[in-house]
Amino acid sequence: MNEVTKETYKPTSPNSKLDFASVWEYAPAPESASHAEVKNKYELFIGGKFVKPSSGNYFESTNPANGEVITEFAEASKSDVNKAVKAARKAFEGEWSSISAKERGKYLYRIARMIQERAREFAVLESMDGGKPIRESRDVDIPLVAAHFFYYAGWADKLEYAFPGQKPEAVGVCGQIIPWNFPLLMLAWKIAPALACGNTVVLKPAETTSLTALKFAELVQEAGLPDGVVNIVTGAGETGAEIVNHKDIDKIAFTGSTGVGKLIQRSLAGTDKKFTLELGGKGAMIVFEDAPIDQAVEGIINAIFFNQGHVCCAGSRLLVQEGVADTVMQKLKDRMESLIVGDPLDKNTDVGAINSQGQFETINKYLKIALDEGADVYQSTCNIPENGYFVRPTLLSNVSQSNRVVQEEIFGPVLTIQTFRTADEAIQKANNTPFGLAGGVWTDKGSKIFKVGSGLRSGVVWANTYNKFDPTSPFGGYKESGVGREGGLHGLGAYLKF
Ligand code: ADP
Repeated sequence: MNEVTKETYKPTSPNSKLDFASVWEYAPAPESASHAEVKNKYELFIGGKFVKPSSGNYFESTNPANGEVITEFAEASKSDVNKAVKAARKAFEGEWSSISAKERGKYLYRIARMIQERAREFAVLESMDGGKPIRESRDVDIPLVAAHFFYYAGWADKLEYAFPGQKPEAVGVCGQIIPWNFPLLMLAWKIAPALACGNTVVLKPAETTSLTALKFAELVQEAGLPDGVVNIVTGAGETGAEIVNHKDIDKIAFTGSTGVGKLIQRSLAGTDKKFTLELGGKGAMIVFEDAPIDQAVEGIINAIFFNQGHVCCAGSRLLVQEGVADTVMQKLKDRMESLIVGDPLDKNTDVGAINSQGQFETINKYLKIALDEGADVYQSTCNIPENGYFVRPTLLSNVSQSNRVVQEEIFGPVLTIQTFRTADEAIQKANNTPFGLAGGVWTDKGSKIFKVGSGLRSGVVWANTYNKFDPTSPFGGYKESGVGREGGLHGLGAYLKF
Protein backbone atom coordinates (compact mmCIF):
# COMPACT_ATOMS: atom_id res chain seq x y z
CA MET A 1 0.00 0.00 0.00
CA ASN A 2 1.18 3.43 -0.85
CA GLU A 3 0.65 5.70 2.13
CA VAL A 4 2.33 9.00 1.35
CA THR A 5 3.92 11.14 4.07
CA LYS A 6 5.39 14.63 4.10
CA GLU A 7 8.82 13.07 3.79
CA THR A 8 8.00 10.73 0.92
CA TYR A 9 5.62 12.93 -1.07
CA LYS A 10 6.85 14.24 -4.38
CA PRO A 11 5.04 15.26 -7.53
CA THR A 12 4.52 12.11 -9.53
CA SER A 13 5.51 13.56 -12.87
CA PRO A 14 7.22 14.81 -14.96
CA ASN A 15 10.32 12.65 -14.57
CA SER A 16 8.93 10.53 -11.78
CA LYS A 17 11.34 7.85 -10.68
CA LEU A 18 8.71 5.89 -8.76
CA ASP A 19 8.07 2.56 -10.38
CA PHE A 20 5.40 0.48 -8.68
CA ALA A 21 4.28 -2.80 -10.24
CA SER A 22 0.90 -2.52 -11.82
CA VAL A 23 -1.78 -4.95 -10.65
CA TRP A 24 -3.48 -5.17 -14.01
CA GLU A 25 -1.34 -5.62 -17.09
CA TYR A 26 -2.85 -5.17 -20.53
CA ALA A 27 -1.04 -5.02 -23.83
CA PRO A 28 -1.12 -1.46 -25.21
CA ALA A 29 -4.19 -0.76 -27.37
CA PRO A 30 -3.52 2.67 -28.89
CA GLU A 31 -6.16 4.33 -31.01
CA SER A 32 -4.73 5.30 -34.37
CA ALA A 33 -4.30 9.02 -34.87
CA SER A 34 -3.43 8.70 -38.55
CA HIS A 35 -6.87 9.78 -39.81
CA ALA A 36 -6.92 12.93 -37.69
CA GLU A 37 -5.64 15.84 -39.73
CA VAL A 38 -3.94 18.62 -37.79
CA LYS A 39 -2.60 21.72 -39.54
CA ASN A 40 0.61 23.39 -38.39
CA LYS A 41 -1.24 26.59 -37.66
CA TYR A 42 -4.86 27.66 -37.17
CA GLU A 43 -6.21 31.13 -37.95
CA LEU A 44 -9.23 32.87 -36.45
CA PHE A 45 -12.65 31.97 -37.85
CA ILE A 46 -14.47 35.23 -38.55
CA GLY A 47 -17.32 35.92 -40.97
CA GLY A 48 -17.12 32.41 -42.43
CA LYS A 49 -13.41 32.66 -43.28
CA PHE A 50 -10.13 31.76 -41.65
CA VAL A 51 -8.28 35.04 -41.13
CA LYS A 52 -4.90 35.98 -39.71
CA PRO A 53 -4.80 37.75 -36.32
CA SER A 54 -4.12 41.47 -36.56
CA SER A 55 -1.17 41.19 -34.14
CA GLY A 56 0.42 38.39 -36.20
CA ASN A 57 0.91 36.49 -32.92
CA TYR A 58 0.37 32.77 -32.45
CA PHE A 59 0.71 30.53 -29.40
CA GLU A 60 1.60 26.83 -29.18
CA SER A 61 -0.65 24.03 -28.06
CA THR A 62 1.03 20.97 -26.57
CA ASN A 63 -0.05 17.42 -25.90
CA PRO A 64 -0.08 17.19 -22.07
CA ALA A 65 0.68 13.47 -22.19
CA ASN A 66 4.09 13.89 -23.83
CA GLY A 67 4.85 17.60 -24.09
CA GLU A 68 4.93 17.56 -27.91
CA VAL A 69 3.77 20.68 -29.70
CA ILE A 70 0.64 19.80 -31.69
CA THR A 71 -0.08 23.05 -33.50
CA GLU A 72 -0.30 26.84 -33.13
CA PHE A 73 -3.34 29.03 -32.63
CA ALA A 74 -3.80 32.67 -33.49
CA GLU A 75 -3.97 35.15 -30.65
CA ALA A 76 -7.02 37.36 -31.06
CA SER A 77 -6.68 40.94 -29.88
CA LYS A 78 -9.26 43.67 -29.35
CA SER A 79 -9.51 44.49 -33.06
CA ASP A 80 -10.03 40.81 -33.99
CA VAL A 81 -12.76 40.44 -31.38
CA ASN A 82 -14.30 43.60 -32.79
CA LYS A 83 -14.24 42.13 -36.31
CA ALA A 84 -15.85 38.94 -35.04
CA VAL A 85 -18.61 40.84 -33.23
CA LYS A 86 -19.26 42.93 -36.37
CA ALA A 87 -19.53 39.76 -38.46
CA ALA A 88 -21.90 38.24 -35.91
CA ARG A 89 -24.03 41.40 -35.82
CA LYS A 90 -24.22 41.55 -39.62
CA ALA A 91 -25.32 37.92 -39.79
CA PHE A 92 -27.85 38.43 -37.00
CA GLU A 93 -29.44 41.43 -38.68
CA GLY A 94 -29.14 39.95 -42.15
CA GLU A 95 -29.27 36.45 -43.52
CA TRP A 96 -29.69 34.51 -40.26
CA SER A 97 -32.79 36.46 -39.25
CA SER A 98 -34.35 36.18 -42.66
CA ILE A 99 -34.35 32.39 -42.91
CA SER A 100 -37.16 30.39 -41.36
CA ALA A 101 -36.85 28.66 -37.99
CA LYS A 102 -37.29 25.33 -39.75
CA GLU A 103 -34.25 26.07 -41.96
CA ARG A 104 -32.25 27.01 -38.86
CA GLY A 105 -33.12 23.64 -37.41
CA LYS A 106 -31.94 21.91 -40.58
CA TYR A 107 -28.49 23.46 -40.23
CA LEU A 108 -28.27 22.15 -36.70
CA TYR A 109 -29.36 18.66 -37.76
CA ARG A 110 -26.71 18.78 -40.47
CA ILE A 111 -24.01 19.74 -37.98
CA ALA A 112 -25.13 16.96 -35.62
CA ARG A 113 -24.91 14.36 -38.35
CA MET A 114 -21.51 15.62 -39.53
CA ILE A 115 -20.19 15.32 -35.98
CA GLN A 116 -21.44 11.74 -35.84
CA GLU A 117 -19.73 10.96 -39.14
CA ARG A 118 -16.42 12.37 -37.87
CA ALA A 119 -16.81 11.20 -34.29
CA ARG A 120 -13.56 9.22 -34.28
CA GLU A 121 -11.50 12.10 -35.60
CA PHE A 122 -12.96 14.52 -33.06
CA ALA A 123 -12.42 12.02 -30.23
CA VAL A 124 -8.76 11.49 -31.13
CA LEU A 125 -8.08 15.22 -31.40
CA GLU A 126 -9.84 15.89 -28.09
CA SER A 127 -7.66 13.32 -26.33
CA MET A 128 -4.44 14.54 -27.96
CA ASP A 129 -5.05 18.18 -27.17
CA GLY A 130 -6.64 17.86 -23.75
CA GLY A 131 -5.25 14.64 -22.23
CA LYS A 132 -8.55 12.89 -21.56
CA PRO A 133 -8.73 9.12 -22.15
CA ILE A 134 -9.97 8.16 -25.61
CA ARG A 135 -12.66 6.03 -23.96
CA GLU A 136 -14.13 9.18 -22.44
CA SER A 137 -13.90 11.35 -25.54
CA ARG A 138 -15.15 8.52 -27.77
CA ASP A 139 -17.97 7.23 -25.54
CA VAL A 140 -19.02 10.32 -23.62
CA ASP A 141 -17.92 13.68 -25.04
CA ILE A 142 -18.50 13.34 -28.76
CA PRO A 143 -21.80 11.38 -28.60
CA LEU A 144 -23.11 14.03 -26.19
CA VAL A 145 -21.97 16.79 -28.57
CA ALA A 146 -24.04 15.25 -31.37
CA ALA A 147 -26.96 14.69 -28.97
CA HIS A 148 -26.97 18.38 -28.00
CA PHE A 149 -27.12 19.51 -31.61
CA PHE A 150 -29.90 17.02 -32.36
CA TYR A 151 -31.86 18.05 -29.28
CA TYR A 152 -31.70 21.80 -29.94
CA ALA A 153 -32.25 21.31 -33.68
CA GLY A 154 -35.63 19.90 -32.72
CA TRP A 155 -36.59 23.03 -30.75
CA ALA A 156 -35.60 25.57 -33.43
CA ASP A 157 -39.08 25.75 -35.01
CA LYS A 158 -41.03 25.02 -31.82
CA LEU A 159 -40.01 27.90 -29.57
CA GLU A 160 -43.58 29.08 -29.15
CA TYR A 161 -44.56 25.60 -27.98
CA ALA A 162 -41.62 25.53 -25.57
CA PHE A 163 -42.83 28.78 -23.99
CA PRO A 164 -46.58 28.82 -24.58
CA GLY A 165 -48.37 32.15 -24.57
CA GLN A 166 -45.15 34.07 -25.00
CA LYS A 167 -43.42 35.48 -28.03
CA PRO A 168 -39.80 34.45 -27.64
CA GLU A 169 -37.18 36.33 -29.65
CA ALA A 170 -33.48 35.81 -30.15
CA VAL A 171 -31.26 37.80 -27.81
CA GLY A 172 -28.79 38.86 -30.52
CA VAL A 173 -25.02 38.43 -30.54
CA CYS A 174 -23.75 36.04 -27.86
CA GLY A 175 -20.21 36.00 -26.48
CA GLN A 176 -19.31 32.54 -25.25
CA ILE A 177 -16.21 31.58 -23.27
CA ILE A 178 -15.50 27.96 -22.49
CA PRO A 179 -12.99 25.93 -20.42
CA TRP A 180 -10.63 23.08 -21.18
CA ASN A 181 -12.22 20.12 -19.45
CA PHE A 182 -14.90 19.25 -22.07
CA PRO A 183 -13.79 21.42 -25.00
CA LEU A 184 -16.16 20.34 -27.77
CA LEU A 185 -19.00 19.46 -25.41
CA MET A 186 -18.92 22.91 -23.81
CA LEU A 187 -18.93 24.39 -27.31
CA ALA A 188 -22.04 22.34 -28.11
CA TRP A 189 -23.74 23.40 -24.85
CA LYS A 190 -23.19 26.99 -25.90
CA ILE A 191 -23.60 27.05 -29.68
CA ALA A 192 -26.49 24.59 -30.19
CA PRO A 193 -29.14 26.43 -28.08
CA ALA A 194 -27.88 29.86 -29.20
CA LEU A 195 -28.32 29.03 -32.89
CA ALA A 196 -31.59 27.18 -32.35
CA CYS A 197 -33.02 30.42 -30.92
CA GLY A 198 -31.76 32.48 -33.87
CA ASN A 199 -28.74 34.13 -32.23
CA THR A 200 -25.24 34.47 -33.66
CA VAL A 201 -22.10 33.76 -31.62
CA VAL A 202 -18.50 34.73 -30.97
CA LEU A 203 -16.94 31.83 -29.06
CA LYS A 204 -13.56 31.59 -27.40
CA PRO A 205 -12.24 28.14 -26.51
CA ALA A 206 -9.71 27.68 -23.70
CA GLU A 207 -6.11 28.37 -24.69
CA THR A 208 -4.94 24.81 -23.94
CA THR A 209 -7.74 23.09 -25.87
CA SER A 210 -8.70 25.07 -28.95
CA LEU A 211 -8.15 22.34 -31.53
CA THR A 212 -11.61 20.79 -31.75
CA ALA A 213 -13.23 24.24 -31.81
CA LEU A 214 -11.21 25.10 -34.94
CA LYS A 215 -12.08 21.71 -36.43
CA PHE A 216 -15.68 22.56 -35.68
CA ALA A 217 -15.19 25.83 -37.57
CA GLU A 218 -14.15 23.80 -40.63
CA LEU A 219 -17.30 21.74 -40.24
CA VAL A 220 -19.43 24.90 -40.00
CA GLN A 221 -17.95 26.03 -43.32
CA GLU A 222 -18.72 22.67 -44.92
CA ALA A 223 -22.25 22.70 -43.52
CA GLY A 224 -22.81 25.95 -45.43
CA LEU A 225 -23.94 27.93 -42.40
CA PRO A 226 -24.33 31.59 -43.42
CA ASP A 227 -21.13 33.61 -42.84
CA GLY A 228 -20.80 35.22 -39.43
CA VAL A 229 -23.34 33.05 -37.60
CA VAL A 230 -20.51 31.23 -35.81
CA ASN A 231 -17.21 33.04 -35.16
CA ILE A 232 -14.37 31.44 -33.23
CA VAL A 233 -11.56 33.50 -31.77
CA THR A 234 -8.64 31.91 -29.95
CA GLY A 235 -6.52 33.39 -27.19
CA ALA A 236 -6.17 33.51 -23.43
CA GLY A 237 -7.89 35.49 -20.68
CA GLU A 238 -7.28 38.89 -22.32
CA THR A 239 -9.19 37.78 -25.41
CA GLY A 240 -11.99 36.53 -23.14
CA ALA A 241 -12.09 39.88 -21.37
CA GLU A 242 -12.41 41.69 -24.74
CA ILE A 243 -15.50 39.61 -25.45
CA VAL A 244 -16.98 40.23 -22.00
CA ASN A 245 -16.46 43.99 -22.29
CA HIS A 246 -17.55 44.42 -25.90
CA LYS A 247 -20.38 46.93 -26.15
CA ASP A 248 -22.20 45.23 -29.02
CA ILE A 249 -22.61 41.82 -27.36
CA ASP A 250 -26.05 41.09 -25.93
CA LYS A 251 -25.33 38.04 -23.83
CA ILE A 252 -22.33 36.40 -22.19
CA ALA A 253 -22.24 32.66 -21.49
CA PHE A 254 -19.22 31.58 -19.47
CA THR A 255 -18.07 28.26 -18.09
CA GLY A 256 -14.87 28.24 -16.06
CA SER A 257 -13.37 28.97 -12.69
CA THR A 258 -15.26 30.76 -9.92
CA GLY A 259 -12.50 33.39 -9.74
CA VAL A 260 -12.89 34.42 -13.38
CA GLY A 261 -16.68 34.08 -13.12
CA LYS A 262 -16.70 36.67 -10.32
CA LEU A 263 -14.53 39.02 -12.40
CA ILE A 264 -16.94 38.68 -15.31
CA GLN A 265 -19.97 39.27 -13.12
CA ARG A 266 -18.32 42.45 -11.83
CA SER A 267 -17.59 43.64 -15.38
CA LEU A 268 -21.19 43.00 -16.42
CA ALA A 269 -22.76 44.77 -13.44
CA GLY A 270 -24.61 47.85 -14.63
CA THR A 271 -24.77 46.73 -18.26
CA ASP A 272 -27.90 45.30 -19.84
CA LYS A 273 -26.15 42.15 -21.07
CA LYS A 274 -27.81 38.87 -20.17
CA PHE A 275 -25.47 36.28 -18.73
CA THR A 276 -25.12 32.72 -17.53
CA LEU A 277 -22.14 31.57 -15.48
CA GLU A 278 -21.31 27.94 -14.86
CA LEU A 279 -18.50 27.84 -12.32
CA GLY A 280 -16.71 25.54 -9.89
CA GLY A 281 -17.96 22.76 -7.67
CA LYS A 282 -17.09 20.52 -4.76
CA GLY A 283 -19.60 17.73 -5.26
CA ALA A 284 -20.43 15.51 -2.29
CA MET A 285 -21.29 11.83 -2.68
CA ILE A 286 -23.26 10.40 0.24
CA VAL A 287 -23.13 6.64 0.79
CA PHE A 288 -25.59 5.16 3.30
CA GLU A 289 -25.11 1.82 5.07
CA ASP A 290 -27.95 0.28 3.08
CA ALA A 291 -26.39 1.22 -0.29
CA PRO A 292 -25.29 -1.39 -2.81
CA ILE A 293 -21.64 -0.92 -1.86
CA ASP A 294 -19.90 -2.36 -4.93
CA GLN A 295 -22.12 -0.28 -7.20
CA ALA A 296 -21.41 2.80 -5.09
CA VAL A 297 -17.65 2.22 -5.26
CA GLU A 298 -17.81 1.95 -9.04
CA GLY A 299 -19.85 5.14 -9.22
CA ILE A 300 -17.36 6.98 -7.00
CA ILE A 301 -14.42 5.84 -9.13
CA ASN A 302 -16.25 7.16 -12.20
CA ALA A 303 -17.21 10.40 -10.44
CA ILE A 304 -13.71 11.50 -9.52
CA PHE A 305 -10.99 9.48 -11.21
CA PHE A 306 -12.17 9.02 -14.79
CA ASN A 307 -11.37 12.18 -16.73
CA GLN A 308 -8.71 13.02 -14.07
CA GLY A 309 -11.28 14.80 -11.90
CA HIS A 310 -11.41 17.53 -14.56
CA VAL A 311 -15.16 17.91 -14.17
CA CYS A 312 -16.81 20.93 -12.50
CA CYS A 313 -19.45 18.62 -11.05
CA ALA A 314 -16.93 15.89 -10.10
CA GLY A 315 -17.72 14.00 -6.90
CA SER A 316 -14.64 15.20 -5.06
CA ARG A 317 -15.93 14.61 -1.52
CA LEU A 318 -17.11 11.29 -0.19
CA LEU A 319 -19.35 11.12 2.87
CA VAL A 320 -19.79 7.55 4.14
CA GLN A 321 -22.07 6.38 6.92
CA GLU A 322 -19.91 5.14 9.80
CA GLY A 323 -20.96 1.49 9.75
CA VAL A 324 -19.62 0.92 6.22
CA ALA A 325 -16.75 3.42 6.22
CA ASP A 326 -13.96 0.85 6.58
CA THR A 327 -15.48 -1.45 3.97
CA VAL A 328 -15.97 1.37 1.46
CA MET A 329 -12.45 2.66 2.06
CA GLN A 330 -10.90 -0.76 1.50
CA LYS A 331 -12.96 -1.45 -1.62
CA LEU A 332 -12.07 1.95 -3.00
CA LYS A 333 -8.36 1.34 -2.46
CA ASP A 334 -8.63 -2.08 -4.13
CA ARG A 335 -10.45 -0.60 -7.12
CA MET A 336 -7.99 2.29 -7.35
CA GLU A 337 -5.19 -0.26 -7.64
CA SER A 338 -6.75 -1.58 -10.83
CA LEU A 339 -7.00 1.83 -12.53
CA ILE A 340 -4.72 2.34 -15.49
CA VAL A 341 -3.12 5.78 -15.64
CA GLY A 342 -1.32 6.74 -18.82
CA ASP A 343 -1.50 7.37 -22.55
CA PRO A 344 -4.83 9.09 -23.26
CA LEU A 345 -4.95 7.47 -26.70
CA ASP A 346 -4.75 3.94 -25.25
CA LYS A 347 -8.19 2.32 -25.11
CA ASN A 348 -7.33 0.68 -21.77
CA THR A 349 -6.55 3.95 -20.04
CA ASP A 350 -8.87 4.98 -17.22
CA VAL A 351 -7.07 8.13 -16.08
CA GLY A 352 -5.32 10.27 -18.69
CA ALA A 353 -3.04 13.29 -18.50
CA ILE A 354 -3.61 16.41 -16.43
CA ASN A 355 -4.51 19.11 -18.93
CA SER A 356 -1.62 21.52 -18.41
CA GLN A 357 1.46 22.25 -16.37
CA GLY A 358 -0.48 24.93 -14.48
CA GLN A 359 -3.20 22.48 -13.44
CA PHE A 360 -0.60 19.82 -12.60
CA GLU A 361 1.06 22.29 -10.24
CA THR A 362 -2.27 23.27 -8.70
CA ILE A 363 -3.11 19.65 -7.90
CA ASN A 364 0.32 19.03 -6.38
CA LYS A 365 0.00 22.24 -4.38
CA TYR A 366 -3.22 20.86 -2.88
CA LEU A 367 -1.60 17.51 -2.09
CA LYS A 368 1.04 19.37 -0.10
CA ILE A 369 -1.68 21.38 1.64
CA ALA A 370 -3.40 18.09 2.51
CA LEU A 371 -0.23 16.85 4.19
CA ASP A 372 0.23 20.13 6.02
CA GLU A 373 -3.36 19.93 7.23
CA GLY A 374 -2.66 16.47 8.66
CA ALA A 375 -4.58 14.39 6.14
CA ASP A 376 -3.69 10.75 5.48
CA VAL A 377 -2.77 10.63 1.81
CA TYR A 378 -3.16 7.40 -0.12
CA GLN A 379 -2.22 7.02 -3.78
CA SER A 380 -2.66 4.00 -6.03
CA THR A 381 0.62 2.33 -6.91
CA CYS A 382 0.20 2.01 -10.68
CA ASN A 383 2.93 2.79 -13.17
CA ILE A 384 2.70 6.19 -14.77
CA PRO A 385 4.56 7.58 -17.75
CA GLU A 386 7.80 9.43 -17.01
CA ASN A 387 6.96 12.39 -19.23
CA GLY A 388 3.80 14.43 -19.37
CA TYR A 389 1.55 15.51 -16.54
CA PHE A 390 0.11 12.58 -14.60
CA VAL A 391 -1.24 12.30 -11.07
CA ARG A 392 -2.04 8.99 -9.41
CA PRO A 393 -5.61 8.56 -8.11
CA THR A 394 -5.47 9.91 -4.55
CA LEU A 395 -7.60 9.51 -1.41
CA LEU A 396 -7.40 11.99 1.46
CA SER A 397 -8.75 10.68 4.77
CA ASN A 398 -8.53 12.07 8.30
CA VAL A 399 -9.73 15.42 6.99
CA SER A 400 -12.13 17.85 8.64
CA GLN A 401 -14.80 20.10 7.24
CA SER A 402 -12.71 23.24 7.64
CA ASN A 403 -9.69 21.87 5.74
CA ARG A 404 -8.89 23.64 2.49
CA VAL A 405 -8.86 20.33 0.64
CA VAL A 406 -12.50 19.82 1.71
CA GLN A 407 -13.61 23.37 0.94
CA GLU A 408 -11.73 24.29 -2.25
CA GLU A 409 -11.95 22.90 -5.76
CA ILE A 410 -8.83 20.87 -6.66
CA PHE A 411 -9.91 19.79 -10.17
CA GLY A 412 -7.82 16.64 -10.14
CA PRO A 413 -8.12 12.92 -9.33
CA VAL A 414 -8.24 13.61 -5.59
CA LEU A 415 -11.05 12.43 -3.30
CA THR A 416 -11.58 13.40 0.35
CA ILE A 417 -13.36 11.01 2.72
CA GLN A 418 -15.39 11.90 5.79
CA THR A 419 -17.95 9.93 7.78
CA PHE A 420 -21.45 10.73 9.07
CA ARG A 421 -24.04 9.12 11.35
CA THR A 422 -27.40 10.57 10.28
CA ALA A 423 -28.91 11.84 7.04
CA ASP A 424 -29.15 15.34 8.53
CA GLU A 425 -25.45 15.33 9.35
CA ALA A 426 -24.63 14.18 5.80
CA ILE A 427 -26.76 16.96 4.29
CA GLN A 428 -25.21 19.54 6.59
CA LYS A 429 -21.67 18.47 5.67
CA ALA A 430 -22.47 18.22 1.97
CA ASN A 431 -23.86 21.77 1.94
CA ASN A 432 -20.99 23.19 3.95
CA THR A 433 -18.82 24.57 1.11
CA PRO A 434 -19.14 27.74 -0.96
CA PHE A 435 -20.27 25.64 -3.95
CA GLY A 436 -23.49 23.92 -4.99
CA LEU A 437 -23.16 22.35 -8.41
CA ALA A 438 -23.74 18.63 -7.97
CA GLY A 439 -24.15 15.85 -5.45
CA GLY A 440 -24.91 12.16 -5.30
CA VAL A 441 -26.60 9.73 -2.94
CA TRP A 442 -26.33 5.97 -2.74
CA THR A 443 -28.99 4.11 -0.77
CA ASP A 444 -31.50 1.31 -1.12
CA LYS A 445 -34.31 3.53 0.16
CA GLY A 446 -36.24 5.90 -2.07
CA SER A 447 -37.27 7.95 0.98
CA LYS A 448 -33.62 8.73 1.75
CA ILE A 449 -33.04 9.75 -1.85
CA PHE A 450 -35.90 12.27 -1.57
CA LYS A 451 -34.79 13.53 1.83
CA VAL A 452 -31.17 14.03 0.75
CA GLY A 453 -32.12 15.24 -2.72
CA SER A 454 -34.34 17.97 -1.35
CA GLY A 455 -31.84 18.88 1.38
CA LEU A 456 -28.83 19.36 -0.88
CA ARG A 457 -28.32 22.86 -2.26
CA SER A 458 -27.00 21.55 -5.57
CA GLY A 459 -28.10 22.10 -9.13
CA VAL A 460 -27.92 18.36 -9.82
CA VAL A 461 -28.39 15.38 -7.50
CA TRP A 462 -27.77 11.92 -8.88
CA ALA A 463 -29.16 8.85 -7.11
CA ASN A 464 -27.23 5.57 -7.17
CA THR A 465 -25.16 6.88 -10.06
CA TYR A 466 -23.07 9.94 -10.90
CA ASN A 467 -21.99 12.11 -13.83
CA LYS A 468 -24.81 11.12 -16.13
CA PHE A 469 -25.65 13.79 -18.70
CA ASP A 470 -28.47 14.32 -21.09
CA PRO A 471 -29.23 17.31 -23.32
CA THR A 472 -32.79 17.46 -21.98
CA SER A 473 -31.75 18.07 -18.36
CA PRO A 474 -30.92 21.51 -17.02
CA PHE A 475 -27.50 21.94 -15.45
CA GLY A 476 -26.14 24.74 -13.28
CA GLY A 477 -25.29 25.74 -9.76
CA TYR A 478 -26.28 27.31 -6.48
CA LYS A 479 -24.05 29.71 -4.51
CA GLU A 480 -20.56 30.17 -6.00
CA SER A 481 -21.21 27.49 -8.61
CA GLY A 482 -22.91 29.95 -10.90
CA VAL A 483 -25.93 31.76 -12.21
CA GLY A 484 -28.49 30.36 -14.65
CA ARG A 485 -28.96 26.96 -16.23
CA GLU A 486 -27.81 25.29 -19.43
CA GLY A 487 -29.40 22.26 -21.06
CA GLY A 488 -33.04 21.37 -21.60
CA LEU A 489 -35.73 24.02 -21.83
CA HIS A 490 -33.98 26.16 -19.23
CA GLY A 491 -30.94 26.31 -21.51
CA LEU A 492 -33.16 27.34 -24.40
CA GLY A 493 -34.81 30.13 -22.40
CA ALA A 494 -31.39 31.55 -21.55
CA TYR A 495 -30.92 32.44 -25.24
CA LEU A 496 -34.28 34.16 -25.68
CA LYS A 497 -35.94 37.36 -24.63
CA PHE A 498 -39.65 37.46 -23.97
P1 ADP B 1 -9.45 27.35 -15.34
O1 ADP B 1 -8.92 28.00 -14.08
O2 ADP B 1 -10.24 26.16 -15.09
O3 ADP B 1 -8.45 27.27 -16.43
P2 ADP B 1 -10.52 29.79 -16.29
O4 ADP B 1 -11.73 30.37 -15.66
O5 ADP B 1 -9.22 30.43 -16.06
O6 ADP B 1 -10.56 28.28 -15.87
O7 ADP B 1 -10.72 29.67 -17.86
C1 ADP B 1 -11.95 29.42 -18.47
C2 ADP B 1 -12.06 30.26 -19.73
O8 ADP B 1 -12.08 31.63 -19.36
C3 ADP B 1 -10.87 30.11 -20.67
O9 ADP B 1 -11.36 30.15 -22.01
C4 ADP B 1 -10.03 31.33 -20.34
O10 ADP B 1 -9.19 31.74 -21.41
C5 ADP B 1 -11.09 32.36 -20.07
N1 ADP B 1 -10.67 33.48 -19.23
C6 ADP B 1 -9.66 33.54 -18.34
N2 ADP B 1 -9.60 34.76 -17.76
C7 ADP B 1 -10.61 35.52 -18.29
C8 ADP B 1 -11.11 36.85 -18.09
N3 ADP B 1 -10.55 37.67 -17.23
N4 ADP B 1 -12.16 37.25 -18.82
C9 ADP B 1 -12.77 36.42 -19.68
N5 ADP B 1 -12.36 35.16 -19.92
C10 ADP B 1 -11.30 34.68 -19.24
